[in-house]
Amino acid sequence: MISTILPTYARADLEFVKGQGAWLTEADGSHFLDLASGIAVNSLGHAHPDLVKIIKSQAEKLWHVSNLYKIPQQRALADVLVANSFADTVFFTNSGTESCELAVKMSRKYWFEKGYPGKSEIITFEGSFHGRSSAGIAATASEKMTKGFGPLLPGFININWSDHEAIKSSISDKTAAILIEPIQGEGGIRLLPEQCLKGIREICDEKDILLILDEVQCGVGRTGKLFAHEWAEIEPDIMMVAKGIGGGFPLGAVLAKENAASGMTAGTHGSTYGGNPLGCSIGLKVMDIISDPNFLYDVNRKAKLFHDGLLELLRKNTSIFEEVRGKGLMLGLKCKVKNTDVVNAAYSNKLLTVPAGDNVVRLLPPLTISDKDINEALNKLDGVMTALSQ
Ligand SMILES: *Cc1c(COP(=O)(O)O)cnc(C)c1O
Repeated sequence: MISTILPTYARADLEFVKGQGAWLTEADGSHFLDLASGIAVNSLGHAHPDLVKIIKSQAEKLWHVSNLYKIPQQRALADVLVANSFADTVFFTNSGTESCELAVKMSRKYWFEKGYPGKSEIITFEGSFHGRSSAGIAATASEKMTKGFGPLLPGFININWSDHEAIKSSISDKTAAILIEPIQGEGGIRLLPEQCLKGIREICDEKDILLILDEVQCGVGRTGKLFAHEWAEIEPDIMMVAKGIGGGFPLGAVLAKENAASGMTAGTHGSTYGGNPLGCSIGLKVMDIISDPNFLYDVNRKAKLFHDGLLELLRKNTSIFEEVRGKGLMLGLKCKVKNTDVVNAAYSNKLLTVPAGDNVVRLLPPLTISDKDINEALNKLDGVMTALSQ
């Protein structure tokens, strides 16, 4: 008989009842060090006192009113995002998938309104992940994601990861946009070199097409900059955000330049929940904390500590891992053994990690993780390597 929960997930046999900082507690009282952060969502760890305070106080006032009315918390969060990014305007969603939907719609509407309704194709990349909606899976184009769900939404051209020649040869007078993650998350912490992102920006300028960045996983401080594309010193036209911005509350956003957003006039898009007072007051607090240069400085300092420690582990034992990948606290270990064996061995050592494509194990600690907990994580990973070497 089918389970009462639709059986689409392969879950670990773990049930957590409480979280504090970078630690989760199981019902039996055992503690797990959390390098999963709910897949890069709990950016400030569990039960961050400032977030607990804001969610309590806002919950007592107002949760939801709909976008029929003005929402001051939404405006405040939009103002902060605009002040801290390339963007001129923001739309709020509840997830990365919804952000993908709008990014796709916005880029097509842009060209439609400019008088080029045929410019609707979007170039995407092998190994990418943009969500599970019809647009999201068409963009991703992997067999795993799309098989049996056809007919797929047309208008996506999927090419090899960061292949500049393929990008150039795929561009035609039908191309509306290029959609890319500065660092592929699900794809295996595959980092797009800064030079490469610069090159893609140049191609977009030259050929007059929009650049959409998916920063759902790598954005909001994860890489040590507020947004990952800042490392390459370029600006997108449209950017998708979600995961870390809500600190655990479902919140997403699409940020855009005024010109790129020009097709999206009143009535062209909407969301019932998106940008509600509760979500936005939490997002505002998350942004307050993470956009502070001192906070980001500390993320980079801790990232170096962690990265160096991982390299040391790899030197010590060459049989389990072959490479440390990533930027900031978005780290990956390319495995020589099966990545899921590593994740399972980590569970046995009371450590949470996340498998990804390309046989990689992702390490996505809360950005607030302490130096002590980073050392503890390294010890636990050392234990994992020893266990798997036997
Ligand atoms: C998680 C993710 C998404 C989808 O976000 P949901 O909130 O699960 O809908 C899209 N893009 C990237 C890069 C992601 O990591």
